[in-house]
Amino acid sequence: MSDTPAATPRCPICGNPREQRFRPFCSRACRDRDFLAWADGRYAIPAVEAEEPDGDGQPLPERPQDDR
Ligand SMILES: [Zn+2]
Repeated sequence: MSDTPAATPRCPICGNPREQRFRPFCSRACRDRDFLAWADGRYAIPAVEAEEPDGDGQPLPERPQDDR
């Protein structure tokens, strides 16, 4: 039988033994770090707004009625 010691849960960020109150991380710093990384990846959307292909960008002026 393998007598591997009880697998100590490790902080996925730095590998230190995790702290119960910060699990699954070892500290608040690592927890924040993971959250920031997650948020960063989640919100890393190209800030390219859908632009109108039309280059004019101005509404057509009202055509003057040709009433003589
Ligand atoms: Zn950590």
